[in-house]
Amino acid sequence: MPDRLVLLGSKGGPALRPGGPWPSSSLLQIGGRSIVVDCGLGVTRGLVDAGISLKSLDLIFITHLHSDHVLELGPLIHTAWTAGLATPVGVFGPPGTGHYWRRFCQAMEFDIEIRIVDEGRPDIRDLVSIGEFGEGQVVAQGGLTVSALRVEHPPVTDCFALRFEHGGKSVVFSGDTAFFPPLADFARGADILVHEAMVEEGIERLVARTGNGARLREHLLASHSFAEEAGSIASDAGVKRLVLNHLIPADDSLIGEADWTAAVRKTWNGDLTIARDGLVVGLSSTKAAAGEETV
Ligand SMILES: [Zn+2]
Ligand SMILES: [Zn+2]
Repeated sequence: MPDRLVLLGSKGGPALRPGGPWPSSSLLQIGGRSIVVDCGLGVTRGLVDAGISLKSLDLIFITHLHSDHVLELGPLIHTAWTAGLATPVGVFGPPGTGHYWRRFCQAMEFDIEIRIVDEGRPDIRDLVSIGEFGEGQVVAQGGLTVSALRVEHPPVTDCFALRFEHGGKSVVFSGDTAFFPPLADFARGADILVHEAMVEEGIERLVARTGNGARLREHLLASHSFAEEAGSIASDAGVKRLVLNHLIPADDSLIGEADWTAAVRKTWNGDLTIARDGLVVGLSSTKAAAGEETV
């Protein structure tokens, strides 16, 4: 299994619009592990489309509890369970993740109980372990290490960037964050930095279209980064490739890849990927084998 990153859902925010991309979720395959990072709506469909057997689900990370990152966590695990999942799943998320999972199982109690009795399935509640984390090292197992850095995403205080390392390769996810200079140290030398991004021209039209104007604009400016700021973090960190993800706006017909590129090129000269749903980014040590394809 080649190491790769699959961007399953690339838009920022939970709203869906016809023909548009889907909220945040990614698949990171590294060192033989398949790791799901964030579970926005569409994560299950995205994994299936990427050719992943849901039965093999084993490791999930959640950066924070905004719905565009966690709404489909329960449904993903439950669907994997109905697909034959019988091995443990480790879910790592901020404080509150366990509460979400227990209440999800409660909401689905009728179905869970009946499938255990009627279909002889193992108890899904015994298969899942929840690890709530703060800053620092989250996981060190079989050569895989994962660490977390608290980022700036008010009013959410438990929002984390995540760094995954295995066999000398490293991939960093910014989480949702306003411009946050300490992220450059955290992402130092990474093969890939996946950073959230907004493009300024699109914000005013998005605010007008969504209908709650001033408050939305205020939230976006205080809690998210412009593409230029993502580029500046990538440059300071000296990463090998920058992936702009969690795009805001993501479904404005007047904002295309060229606009994202023009914005980020003010601060970033290195390898660049603008995310779209299903895009695969290779994580090879050889330059020739790195690159993109779409599933
Ligand atoms: Zn988000
Ligand atoms: Zn958020």
